[in-house]
Amino acid sequence: MNEVIGRVFDFETKVFEDSRALYSNLATNGQSPKALIIGCADSRIVPEQILQAQPGDLFVCRNAGNIVPPYATQNGGVTSTVEYAVMVLGIRDIIVCGHSDCGAMKGLAGDPAKLEAMPNVVAWLRHGTAARQVVDSSYPDLEDGDRVRAVSLENVVAQLAHLRTHPSVATGIARGEIALHGWFVDIHNGQMLALNGETNRFEVVRADRPLPVAQPAAKRLAADFSYQEAAE
Ligand code: ZN
Repeated sequence: MNEVIGRVFDFETKVFEDSRALYSNLATNGQSPKALIIGCADSRIVPEQILQAQPGDLFVCRNAGNIVPPYATQNGGVTSTVEYAVMVLGIRDIIVCGHSDCGAMKGLAGDPAKLEAMPNVVAWLRHGTAARQVVDSSYPDLEDGDRVRAVSLENVVAQLAHLRTHPSVATGIARGEIALHGWFVDIHNGQMLALNGETNRFEVVRADRPLPVAQPAAKRLAADFSYQEAAE
């Protein structure tokens, strides 16, 4: 048994014991996590560590490439997790979090022929095609690491767009109840980037500045105009 697997012996006697009151409260009163974070399965990117979160703080969905399939495509784990988070847990902040040196994004940015032996990965990464094509079109001169980084950043933008296709999320956005966040972790220097929806750029997160938000919570009344016109 490897050393990591062996740590299971310590959960009941040490980890749980040290947080007994917290677990007791969560078991009695249920969970009310404050955010849904959709991150990469990469072992180096740990949402709970980035946000210094305790059990009960975060609803987490991790997969290769921090991908959110658009609503209509399939019933899958991400779709169900998003729906439950919004409809049942009432989560108001949804974060899509990418990262540097991402294996999935290298696959998405690179030669598709190299992925031939992994048909499921190929099918999954198709949800990132928009990011790849945006980079091909808007940043055609980027190569290697710079290209992967650009694809990774554009992939966060693409997955936020997919998130908006989920009816539960679309409804929450229209009601001004849900905010969307696009984050990127640079694991080479620990820097956090956040997408600013007003400037459409990623900005470095700094404690002395407001947090850049991809889509702040704001009630939308797109249909109001026609009602007014019709009434006149
Ligand atoms: Zn990754």
